[in-house]
Amino acid sequence: MTLAATGTDERCPRCRAGLVMADPAPAWCPACEWGLDAFDRHRAPRTWGLRAGDRADHWLAFRLNRRQYDSLVGRTVGRRGNPLARVAMLLLATPLLLLMPLVLAAGVYLAGSASPIGMVLGPAIIICTLVLVWPRRREEPLWQPWVVDEVSAPALFGLLRRVADAAGTPMPHEVHLDHDVNAAVTVRGIRRRRVLCVGLPLWAALDPQERVGLLAHEFGHFVNHDARRGLVVRGGLRVLHGMLGVLAGAVRGGSLWVLPVVFLGAPVLWLLSVTLLILSGRDSQRAEYLADQIATRVAGTAAVAGLFDGLLISDGLPAAVAAGHRSPADPLTWRTAAAHLRTSTPLETLALLSLRTEASLLRSHPPTGLRRRMVRSRPAQAAQIEPDEQEWAAVGRDLAPWFAKLAKRLSG
Ligand SMILES: [Zn+2]
Ligand SMILES: [Zn+2]
Repeated sequence: MTLAATGTDERCPRCRAGLVMADPAPAWCPACEWGLDAFDRHRAPRTWGLRAGDRADHWLAFRLNRRQYDSLVGRTVGRRGNPLARVAMLLLATPLLLLMPLVLAAGVYLAGSASPIGMVLGPAIIICTLVLVWPRRREEPLWQPWVVDEVSAPALFGLLRRVADAAGTPMPHEVHLDHDVNAAVTVRGIRRRRVLCVGLPLWAALDPQERVGLLAHEFGHFVNHDARRGLVVRGGLRVLHGMLGVLAGAVRGGSLWVLPVVFLGAPVLWLLSVTLLILSGRDSQRAEYLADQIATRVAGTAAVAGLFDGLLISDGLPAAVAAGHRSPADPLTWRTAAAHLRTSTPLETLALLSLRTEASLLRSHPPTGLRRRMVRSRPAQAAQIEPDEQEWAAVGRDLAPWFAKLAKRLSG
């Protein structure tokens, strides 16, 4: 998509400022944000089976995102969400979790009944349910992350420990590195092991102090009580994602008849699911803003604001590195490409556009543009942790062998 500069002939009907033309996306006004809420059918993912579902999702999420931003701006984000909403989420997620066992039980009951309809319908329900929930051999991802430990990366672990201490969060049990332009934390298994995964390209592309912000944000997830990471709500949402996956598969296969059957056949179930998405999405976004607040305290306002600029241009990073014909084994390659993208990309426009492109009830994070705006709207904070050049050099030496692996992976 090409973004034309403002000041074209097209004028905003509300404030007469020049519109941003983003062909083939709908134009919008950068001054008063007129038109920003328009649904961009070329770029929106197909999630709900029906385009009308995607449109409704976008419409609602855009407004909820804005409302939540307005309610939090200028205030301290709470450690925990609304307790009543938490109870409601548990109540909504439980039937979703029990959905498959209940349907299966109904099938068994019908199969055992004396009526001839039940004897046909019962086994059919059992077979359909089993087909749906039967564990499929999950396709192994092509590339696994590399596990790094304290022995092989003492300086990196020293930095992680300092950031975790300053953030007031526990350390991860495992640290992974991979090839993504991303970073994430997960909590795995019954033992609830905390895993931090840092994508080497993103790490290399960020300014050093922004990396502190990235780590502090990720660690913030260990203490921000995000309802979507709790066992019951996460389980309920997984069932919902499974249902959407089956729907999308049916639509792709041309079985359009499945849409009215599913949406009209189980309206209560969908109502329940959407309510759960709305409530848990609000709590997830609160948790993200809280993680950003923690990151700002640890790394300072300037670094976290810069981190968002880094995230805004991250999609274009692999292509920029590939076009530069320089080795991805050298972290400087990523840094140079990112620096070029940061100066050549209209960051303010991209930040604003993210309010449109990142509006969906299924997303856990608020749009990057709103997170960026939130951090910038608060009184500036100085950094608590500011590693010096020597410390960064030691971390760089720790990571050098992994960057060599990254280069092999990307070239292979
Ligand atoms: Zn305007
Ligand atoms: Zn996050």
